[in-house]
Amino acid sequence: MSELSDWSGRLSAPLLSLRNVTLSYGDTVALSAVNLDVGAGKVVAVIGPSGCGKSSLLRAVAGLEPLTNGRIELDGQSLEGVATHERGLGLMFQDHALFPHLSVGDNVAFGLRMQHQPTEQRQQRVGELLDLVGLAGLQSRAVHSLSGGEAQRVALARALAPSPRLLMLDEPLGSLDRVLREQLASELRRLFTELGVTALHVTHDQAEAFTMADHIVVLRNGQIEQQGAPAELWHSPTSVFVAQFLGHPNIWKDTSGHVLAPITAVRVDPNGPIEAQVEQVEFREGRFRVTARELVVVEARRLVFDHNSALAVGDVVRLFVDKAQLAALAD
Ligand code: ADP
Repeated sequence: MSELSDWSGRLSAPLLSLRNVTLSYGDTVALSAVNLDVGAGKVVAVIGPSGCGKSSLLRAVAGLEPLTNGRIELDGQSLEGVATHERGLGLMFQDHALFPHLSVGDNVAFGLRMQHQPTEQRQQRVGELLDLVGLAGLQSRAVHSLSGGEAQRVALARALAPSPRLLMLDEPLGSLDRVLREQLASELRRLFTELGVTALHVTHDQAEAFTMADHIVVLRNGQIEQQGAPAELWHSPTSVFVAQFLGHPNIWKDTSGHVLAPITAVRVDPNGPIEAQVEQVEFREGRFRVTARELVVVEARRLVFDHNSALAVGDVVRLFVDKAQLAALAD
């Protein structure tokens, strides 16, 4: 093998790889033969409903739960027998609260103390990290005086301070209100890209995953149902489960099985072949989201579409569905 191909081979090798990972708690199989790669510098989000195995996946990578079967490698090295604190991981867990008796600076310095970094170097690094997360100069603040958003920034600074090989995020913004969550999610996205952070991010909030991740994995009952780049996953869900989980409203059953109509496939058209009655109108981000129910036909579908002007509940509209945009879904 030439030097060049060897180099490019190493560049494309995943930083984290899970092979055939199975994790059971007694009779409960939380993860079943999971294969997953996280490339260096990439953010991979794992999403899925409660109980699908997200936390178990993180706990397995962190070494907090033994594998029933399979193998996890970080940077080409098996993690078997490697203790959690020796894995080079940064953990930002929802339940991984800040130490209440330590100042902001001492919280951020925690992992650096574990690495026995000299005081001066440590203080400089803490300063850099607080700068990075937008909390410059807050070293001596008491943790209890922080807002929820500030506390999560400190938790992030603490996780990043020891320069972990892999950052693991478990519902990192789960405790924040929606506006702050969206704002912090896009800040984190920018920060991770700038720093080239490799992260495994677990959340039940698909919007957070779409904002932050390069690659999204959908888990269902401990198995990977589908994975792909955010746009690919959004535009081409392959199953009813994924389409529903992502929030696609138009999933219809026809004679050949389930089909997905993206919201853009349905529109009001005076010459449209479908007659439907408006059941609900919501105002969303500048447009009206309308739910209408087909009239006349036996198995009436609900059709959801966006519209520029308000329609009244009870209005009868004619709709056109662009068949070219329909996609079959597995049941
Ligand atoms: P998620 O994080 O997606 O909610 P979990 O990984 O916590 O899912 O759980 C996956 C499955 O494993 C669920 O059926 C859950 O009840 C079960 N489980 C999780 N932790 C334990 C445990 N410590 N003991 C027994 N069963 C568990």
